[in-house]
Amino acid sequence: MKFETDIHRIKKLALQKEDENWKFRCFLKGWCELSSEEIDALFRRFAKEVTREIDCTECANCCREMKPLLQSKDIEILSAHLGLSRTSFCEKYLVESEEEKGFHFKALPCPFLEDNLCTVYDSRPHDCRSYPHLQKKDRVFCMTEIFSNCSGCPIVYNVYELLKHELWDSDQMEEFLQFGYD
Ligand code: SF4
Ligand code: SF4
Repeated sequence: MKFETDIHRIKKLALQKEDENWKFRCFLKGWCELSSEEIDALFRRFAKEVTREIDCTECANCCREMKPLLQSKDIEILSAHLGLSRTSFCEKYLVESEEEKGFHFKALPCPFLEDNLCTVYDSRPHDCRSYPHLQKKDRVFCMTEIFSNCSGCPIVYNVYELLKHELWDSDQMEEFLQFGYD
């Protein structure tokens, strides 16, 4: 399968496929008989395959559009890297998250993004290191997040396409479309 890498096209395609992608999310979450471990293994396999073909330095869309969650350890590492006190760093760059425990950068794109590159790469927050989080456990319980990342991350978009390609024609999927979804 040829991977789509153009973020503008991906945004359009993800919008066109929104209904289909939501159905597939519901199938994986509530109908598919694969275990959580088997679904994780598919995510890992496809993420490896897609990541090999995508150059994040050509994209950097997550650093432009998404706000990583910073925890205390991230703040300690990043403020030390920049030679700032924790307080100065927080005042200058961070705002407390309204949804989760932790902090976000105040501005988008990320203040440390320059020419599509992360200027604090070795000290970047843990959330940035693990994005787009496809290698983590229990992906089936994070399907809403994955579904919404389809339009913002070429890796997620293509992994989701591969997953659909792998499972869409299965008997279970057909049964789901006939009886499980209205
Ligand atoms: S992780 Fe996704 S959004 Fe971020 S740079 Fe790589 S492909 Fe782009
Ligand atoms: S810290 Fe680096 S990797 Fe994280 S959002 Fe900013 S530029 Fe991107």
